[in-house]
Amino acid sequence: MQENKQAHIDSSPLQTKSTKALMAEVSARLDAIEKLPAHNGDKELIAELESKGISRRDFMKWAGAMTAALSLPASFAPLTARAAEIANRTPVIWLHMAECTGCSESLLRTEDPSVDSVLFDMINLEYHETIMAASGYQATQNLESAIKKHHGNYILMVEGGIPKGSSEYFLTIGANGTTGAQECRHAAEGAMAIFAIGTCSSYGGVQAAAPNPTNAQPLDKIISKPIIKVPGCPPSEKNIVGNVLYFAMFGKTPPIDAFGRPTWAYGHRIHDLCERRGHFDAGEFVEAFGDSNAEKGYCLYKVGCKGPYTFNNCSKLRFNSHTSWPIQAGHGCIGCSEPNFWDTMSPFERPLGNTPFHTAYNGYGADKTADTIGAAVLAVTAVGIAAHAVVSSMVKAK
Ligand code: SF4
Ligand code: SF4
Repeated sequence: MQENKQAHIDSSPLQTKSTKALMAEVSARLDAIEKLPAHNGDKELIAELESKGISRRDFMKWAGAMTAALSLPASFAPLTARAAEIANRTPVIWLHMAECTGCSESLLRTEDPSVDSVLFDMINLEYHETIMAASGYQATQNLESAIKKHHGNYILMVEGGIPKGSSEYFLTIGANGTTGAQECRHAAEGAMAIFAIGTCSSYGGVQAAAPNPTNAQPLDKIISKPIIKVPGCPPSEKNIVGNVLYFAMFGKTPPIDAFGRPTWAYGHRIHDLCERRGHFDAGEFVEAFGDSNAEKGYCLYKVGCKGPYTFNNCSKLRFNSHTSWPIQAGHGCIGCSEPNFWDTMSPFERPLGNTPFHTAYNGYGADKTADTIGAAVLAVTAVGIAAHAVVSSMVKAK
């Protein structure tokens, strides 16, 4: 953690080392991290959790579930727990670019705290504009001193799209009128790992939607270092926290897919784990919002669900303290964790049909005969399945 090592992207460490050797390595790494000064003084994660009504037993159950989610053997659970307990040792600098702050708010506004959200509170956030008291010149100074003090040892998290080129000055930040792009480049220099938090910094998001008047770009178009993308509008806190823990344990980024997303979190389509999937397979669809099929909880494909084209783990993790998620609430997935989803997945309440779908699958997602939807329910199901087969084969080929 002390060296200015640029994180690199490769396959799972379990493919190259035995579990025992890897556990020893992770343990030694955590020993080194534990010696670093703790943020929040004496505050300990377990005590914080207990003050919020979460017992150690609940925490260990969470560590087991997180270990499984990270695709690690169950024997790693104590190490995952330990990495969480010392997460307050690693400094994090969080920058805001062109965005709605929804990614931060979703983490900060939890009414019913979970282990993930308490852990997020414990993370050593050295700089975060939404929650710090400083403003103006003082804020700029705080950022500079955090970058200098922790050079080579901090995690940089960036939220928001970033205007580029001649449009760079559409986004200026702080007392000196620094552009967002300048701030990102500067902060990235000394970062040991860089996370793009949310769809805007991962792929441009709504800022980059056509006609993109500010030439907003994702972070990887601004800096050339490796980036872990955590897309979603907003991403779940578990997806953020899980990547921080993975990095703490292994010192590198987790295995990623072709779009830079960690496969442990974005390896399955929404459609693969959807609770309405049985209705899709049975050809049972909501025809219009509020109809009797909606009351029965039928599949939302015909009212625009983009779950078959979208990779994320929302159905497993859910939102609002893990109580519900959009499809459970009755609206289809809008594909928020996919590149260019504002342009390629809209209109959100209609199936893609014959719309050319030049995004994640470069045209392969197009449902060539979906304009027959409504003519024959089972035919539609078959069409849907055909579209999924194409998507699945693309994913396997990546
Ligand atoms: S189309 Fe949407 S609602 Fe229907 S099963 Fe797939 S993900 Fe679920
Ligand atoms: S269900 Fe779809 S649109 Fe909703 S948060 Fe998940 S990926 Fe995004």
